[in-house]
Amino acid sequence: MAASKGLKILVGCKRVIDYAVKVRVKPDRSGVVTEGVKHSMNPFDEIAVEEAVRMKEKKLAGEAVAISVGPPQSQETLRTALAMGIDRAIHVEIPLAQLEKLQPIHVSKLLAKVCESEKPDLVILGKQAIDDDCNQTGQMLAALLDWPQATFASKIEPSQTIDVSVPAVVTSDLRLNEPRYATLPNIMKAKKKPLAKMSPDQLGVDLQPRQEVISVEDPPVRKAGAKVESVEDLVGKLREKGLVK
Ligand code: AMP
Repeated sequence: MAASKGLKILVGCKRVIDYAVKVRVKPDRSGVVTEGVKHSMNPFDEIAVEEAVRMKEKKLAGEAVAISVGPPQSQETLRTALAMGIDRAIHVEIPLAQLEKLQPIHVSKLLAKVCESEKPDLVILGKQAIDDDCNQTGQMLAALLDWPQATFASKIEPSQTIDVSVPAVVTSDLRLNEPRYATLPNIMKAKKKPLAKMSPDQLGVDLQPRQEVISVEDPPVRKAGAKVESVEDLVGKLREKGLVK
């Protein structure tokens, strides 16, 4: 990555069902239950936010902007990013009814449009969103912008080491850092930081779905296992099943 003072960083922050929630399939199998369910910032995006804030603290970045494409509640996710140290936020609002049909291709097109006006030097996204597990948005965004991409980053150092030239898209791996908690004073300060609202129409992006969800199913229930007393027992059982000779 080329050495540069005051990089402008755009960070993706998706609002997803909290990682600790046991996800339930809707009775009509059209999706998963989201109403009344705890949502949080996608864990990989917390890591992306942390990295952008650290780059600011090290004076490698001049400004860090968070962006979330989602329902009105995504503003809470953006406020968390602001409380972690992001300077300002952009919310591209998607009505709740359209949310289930929102796919990485739409998000990457919206992000690309915002990149045209914001002109960031670096976009940091999570390597994947834990709700759809797509792992596509960063790669699609880099392709749309025709920018270099560094996916699953475990270390970002804009220094003498040249790995990727900016502007570039980076997606964060779990090993990249350990995100900080937002402190109460910073949560209060975050309420006053700028948060701009946009719509897909304003950005000229068509949200027509490219894929259709036929049915969402629970994973098959795993059969109970059995405990064995010794290695000999284990080998005996495996032999019985013809798994070892
Ligand atoms: P995915 O391709 O859906 O697995 O998402 C990969 C990454 O793209 C996420 O970790 C986010 O950083 C970014 N991203 C995906 N969807 C959104 C969204 N709705 N709003 C903001 N960023 C998003």
